Amino acid sequence: MALTDLQGVGPKLAEKLEVLGISQVSDLLFHLPIRYEDRTRIHDIGSCTPGQRVLIEGRVEHSAIVRGRRSMLVVVLFDGTGRITLRFFHFRVYQKQQLASGTQLRCFGEVKAGYQGLEMIHPSYQRLSGRGEEPVADRLTPVYPSAEGLGQKNWIKMTDQALALMRRNQLELEELLPTSLLDRLNLMPLVDALDYIHRPPPEADVAALIQRDHPTQKRLALEELLAHNLSMQKLHRLQRSRKAPSMPPGLPAENDFRERLPFKLTGAQERVAREIHVDLEQSRPMLRLVHGDVGSGKTVIAALAALRAVDNGYQTAITAPTELLAEQHFRVFSAWLEPLGIKPVWLSGKVTGKKRAEALQRISNDAELVIGTHALMQKGVKFNRLGLVIVDEQHRFGVGQRMDLLEKGGKFDQQAHQLIMTATPIPRTLAMTAYAGMDVSVIDELPPGRKPVTTVVMSNERRDEIIQRVANACAGNQQAYWVCTLIEESDVIEAQAAEDVARHLQNDLKGLNIGLIHGRLKPVDKQKIMDEFKSGGIHLLVATTVIEVGVDVPNASLMIIENAERLGLAQLHQLRGRVGRGSAKSSCVLMYNRPLGDLAKQRMEIMRQTSDGFQIAEKDLELRGPGEVLGTRQTGMLLFRVADLARDASLLKMIPAVADKLLKQHPKQAEKLIRRWIGDASRFAGV
Ligand code: ADP
Ligand code: MG
Repeated sequence: MALTDLQGVGPKLAEKLEVLGISQVSDLLFHLPIRYEDRTRIHDIGSCTPGQRVLIEGRVEHSAIVRGRRSMLVVVLFDGTGRITLRFFHFRVYQKQQLASGTQLRCFGEVKAGYQGLEMIHPSYQRLSGRGEEPVADRLTPVYPSAEGLGQKNWIKMTDQALALMRRNQLELEELLPTSLLDRLNLMPLVDALDYIHRPPPEADVAALIQRDHPTQKRLALEELLAHNLSMQKLHRLQRSRKAPSMPPGLPAENDFRERLPFKLTGAQERVAREIHVDLEQSRPMLRLVHGDVGSGKTVIAALAALRAVDNGYQTAITAPTELLAEQHFRVFSAWLEPLGIKPVWLSGKVTGKKRAEALQRISNDAELVIGTHALMQKGVKFNRLGLVIVDEQHRFGVGQRMDLLEKGGKFDQQAHQLIMTATPIPRTLAMTAYAGMDVSVIDELPPGRKPVTTVVMSNERRDEIIQRVANACAGNQQAYWVCTLIEESDVIEAQAAEDVARHLQNDLKGLNIGLIHGRLKPVDKQKIMDEFKSGGIHLLVATTVIEVGVDVPNASLMIIENAERLGLAQLHQLRGRVGRGSAKSSCVLMYNRPLGDLAKQRMEIMRQTSDGFQIAEKDLELRGPGEVLGTRQTGMLLFRVADLARDASLLKMIPAVADKLLKQHPKQAEKLIRRWIGDASRFAGV
């Protein structure tokens, strides 16, 4: 039913609602209150305390417009137990008449402590007949999250109508969860749940409702999580139904590469490579997620996949979320593949003008391998025969971006294979929702010779001691990182801070060669510094968090992270992964500034206790919530209306089984669930 069918909703208001994602009447009921007011009980004024939001009733004893720098309407209300002053800074003259002495008044507002006793500023009020005939509310009053120019009165009026229509079965709000499931989990039917959430009885557990932790809301969260799982499955099923180029083995580049590799693949790498290669031989698209902790050796897996495509005459696109990481891939791949006669093409936002035109030309023509940032997903990039898309650190991209890249396929009408590699392991519970319907490979073994990194937590009051540690390490021919962190999201400020730190450290460590790297440097300069560090010319590298991912210098065995309390677990884990790659025993110093908050304390403790990326990721989810873990809040992929992956973790566990059953036994219901919860956002699935 259209919003404008409601009384009091015209095209203007409908437009405002549309912005909030509400486009039909039933959507209103999935826009849940953020809190509730208890207007079911009248409180004695004499027993009110400041801070309470309450309903009171009394007789106006006195009413006057007080003139000062700004006039104010002041009303004193008495109920036999006490007095309270009502103040109106914005008022109309007729209100003085409305609120004249002797009027019986019912008010709702927050009680405050004023100069002359209790006060309420701008309470909402209702004049009473005095015959006790106006009933108080029998349900709690909801307060809705709103937008400019959309008052609570509007919301109440609209939801009143929507609820009434719902009770008369005039909205498309059929029960989509199978009865067996409702019974087994003891869930309330949808209609009753919505009724409860929008108009709870006075005895409702308001705290639980506000936390969205009430059984009625859990029921909605379950639906929503199911809908997300189902829509991802649908998307992936749709993709799998397309044709993809089959890439059989036994061709030269792949074998050459294996022979030239300076190391032997680990058992886990061999297994994952095999899983990928089996996929690539099929004539339907691969959809595979590779989990592998920092340093587990995902790059070589990507190279093996890319070479299979090259051997079969198809192009491969490799994307990474940061310039530095993409550059690093470009260098590693160039070094590996140029001896085989393969020259990768580089494309980032910083490649412009003639260079860009050249790159685009090669991409649309014969480039075998294209490496870059999200620039690869932008307009104007067109492949000739795209056969494989590799996304490193996928969780920083949204699903939409991955789909954009696929659409650049080229002249032939087949769908590229997809390989997604994640370095920060995604908690399993989350993976089940975000990557539903994908195949998963896990590299659960680190290359041989990796030493565990000892992690210590130290206050910055012991900076001198820490500097001495750096001096000792470098005297022993080791190298070190010093990471500066800032909260400001500004490259400029961050670069400046890192410069200051480098200058001070140079003062304290006169004999050492100190390098500095940050996001403001040109790629060539960054490269120069990284090369110097790699070759041992630089002893101590002062860096911003640009080195977070992918940087690989085995001789660096000490990492100092300044203001470590500012970073999240995933970031700390990534940073720490830069050391412990060589033969020396490595350590990481988490240096903090007092006072250390509770959360920061917990994070550091976890870092001290474990280096297991999966465990860290689970803890991260617990402490921060998934939006931040995935970094995809802005992409819309994991924007939930009701569900919260951390809070509803217990529900997540049952989602895959329930989703499967629903798909098999009630496919129409599954479809409707997607439409109800995801609606237009499922544009990816609607190809
Ligand atoms: P990540 O999984 O974090 O992307 P990388 O692919 O960057 O890890 O690998 C980390 C380092 O380990 C690189 O220097 C890489 O060359 C090396 N490496 C990868 N696999 C092996 C192996 N099987 N044996 C020894 N070193 C390896
Ligand atoms: Mg990597």
